[in-house]
Amino acid sequence: MYIIILGAPGAGKGTQADILSQETGLPRIAPGDLFRQALERGTESGLAAKRYMDAGVLVPDEIATEMILERIAEPDCSSGCLLDGFPRTLHQARALDQALEERGESIDKAVYIEVPSEDLAKRLTGRWLCRSCQTPYHEASFPPKTPGKCDKCGGALYQRSDDREETVRGRLSVFFAQTAPVIDYYEQQHKLLRVNGRLSIHEVTAEMMSALKQPMSS
Ligand code: AMP
Repeated sequence: MYIIILGAPGAGKGTQADILSQETGLPRIAPGDLFRQALERGTESGLAAKRYMDAGVLVPDEIATEMILERIAEPDCSSGCLLDGFPRTLHQARALDQALEERGESIDKAVYIEVPSEDLAKRLTGRWLCRSCQTPYHEASFPPKTPGKCDKCGGALYQRSDDREETVRGRLSVFFAQTAPVIDYYEQQHKLLRVNGRLSIHEVTAEMMSALKQPMSS
């Protein structure tokens, strides 16, 4: 199964994709994580992506698409994967469809986690992540038991540089301008499932799991 998780920055895509990955056994593939890992390794694509990420804008389609298509060609994705944060433009959506079609595959479902825009900025600017295992925390709604330390692995928590208020505003407008058409794209293909992202983490997961089990109407 090839499943796409769609949602604005701060909608909870990463959290839900991680849980779904554990539930389904499908690997979670997230371009933002791949770029950050590439940057840590000091590769050319990581350095190229950095200035776009710091500015809160999308990395050019060619770079993002090449990185994802290479990643999903790896053996662990041969029977499917969860794409978290890709595609984010119509160009990427079409390139992905074409690459899968060449392998005799296609996207099965796209899940859109809907969260009102007024909630998103608050979620992002209070977000902290574990440097080791990437578990997300929120200073108001989900603080760690010990300040600055991950509950799961004890790793140090950090704030992403693109979660600063000025960058967050830009990232949200990029989503509404460039990624919203991708939602329509999957809706027109009768592959879109909408879930209410304002519910608790557990409830959103339950909605997603039940939505994914429903047959799609054509
Ligand atoms: P994320 O970790 O999903 O919030 O993504 C962080 C940043 O990575 C975004 O603000 C973009 O600069 C870049 N990025 C992530 N996914 C994509 C994509 N599909 N296309 C282009 N840039 C992306």
